[in-house]
Amino acid sequence: MSSVHPVSALVSTPARKPAEPLRGIKGMHDVLPAQAAHWLWLEDKLRSLLSRYGYQNLRTPVVEPTALFVRGLGEVTDIVEKEMYSFEDRMNGDHLTLRPEATAGMVRAINEHNALYGGPLRVWQIGSMFRHERPQKGRSRLFHQLDVEAFGHAGPDVDAEIILMLRALWRELGLVEEQDVRLEINSLGQSDERLAHRAALIAHLEAHADLLDEDARRRLHSNPLRILDTKNPAMAAVVESAPQLLDFLGPASLQHLAQVRAVLDAAGLAYRLNPRLVRGLDYYNLTVFEWITPHLGAQSTVCGGGRYDQLIEQLGGKPAPGIGFGLGMERLLLLLEAVDKLPAPVGPVAYAVVPRVEDLPQVLPVLEKLRAAGVSVLMNAGGGSMKTQFKRADQSGASVALVFGPDELARSEVAIKPLRDASAVQSTQPLAEVQRWALQLLGP
Ligand code: ATP
Ligand code: MG
Repeated sequence: MSSVHPVSALVSTPARKPAEPLRGIKGMHDVLPAQAAHWLWLEDKLRSLLSRYGYQNLRTPVVEPTALFVRGLGEVTDIVEKEMYSFEDRMNGDHLTLRPEATAGMVRAINEHNALYGGPLRVWQIGSMFRHERPQKGRSRLFHQLDVEAFGHAGPDVDAEIILMLRALWRELGLVEEQDVRLEINSLGQSDERLAHRAALIAHLEAHADLLDEDARRRLHSNPLRILDTKNPAMAAVVESAPQLLDFLGPASLQHLAQVRAVLDAAGLAYRLNPRLVRGLDYYNLTVFEWITPHLGAQSTVCGGGRYDQLIEQLGGKPAPGIGFGLGMERLLLLLEAVDKLPAPVGPVAYAVVPRVEDLPQVLPVLEKLRAAGVSVLMNAGGGSMKTQFKRADQSGASVALVFGPDELARSEVAIKPLRDASAVQSTQPLAEVQRWALQLLGP
């Protein structure tokens, strides 16, 4: 008797029953073509904006050693404590994690390749992130971020520039500041300032220990700053009255914040200084910020970031400052949908109607020339009557139908029939002059 391979046991199905459809993983979504068109549109906008600010693309793997995130993000953070997809590589026992965020990987990469050797570096990437959270609107287990990092600049100039770049993005996408997106900023100072504040904060929280929830009690001595970030309304009062980190900042930190604010003020950008904005990760210092929207319920942060001047060194690199942000692509698309700012679908320029199979050798080379000239042409595939082909042409969203019927081809011509513009007239064009009418199809 032959033994059954474990993998084939998973794929074989009894011959009598139709196969059960396999489903994707909970919280990890497919992006179908109609939505994917919005992604492409948004990605184009982002790439254009980033290149105008001098950012270059840097791509890092979606899997990294687990230790990178534990060391980079901090052990007592939501992500490391409970959201990471970590596993052991069965081949060699390595401990690996699907990246939950991009900054740690970006820093690892620039350290590994000594990429700051020639000076500062501004980089970005768009990619998949993985967090084991409860899926809901605007929160999934696979999501995508635009991640932007400026390495080697101490600020405050680049801090302000990054925030202004995001305002420029909102404007280019048609979002209205203060109405659709608003900015919150804070300063987390330096580690000695956070240490002094930490002692005062722990004393305050201990004095109100009866009001703390389980999460807060657990974090009281490991990461009390994160308690200020709580979403539990029962703790609002104790958090409200807690000592503020801003009051513990020294002159240099205060000046950094003042200089960032001076640029934002001069640029007419309204923001709220939120002393309780702490961000979820351990690596931040000085400037931190979030862009919040009122249109997405509880998942209100579209974009968050800040300065991390110790992270590069902490991950084994030569000391250098850094600042960056992560922008949730799905949340931004949901926001654009909510305010009706997504572009309408666009069909191809032309749909090629070819009633007779035997004419294909004459027609396809013409279509090739049209595409080489930049015209998008959807060819009717699989034959069908004139009526069927015209119906498909209409459904395709094409502006015109190119009719390669027997009569037209006998005269070495094509009939161009407008499908959308009622005022446009039908014309016939010689096949020999395809370059000329291709330009007409592309329009002014
Ligand atoms: P939240 O408070 O909503 O959990 P976060 O502080 O964990 O956000 P960051 O780590 O700062 O988020 O990530 C940057 C951005 O990535 C967020 O502002 C958000 O737009 C997006 N994001 C984070 N987690 C998810 C998720 N699970 N699903 C979809 N988008 C997400
Ligand atoms: Mg989170």
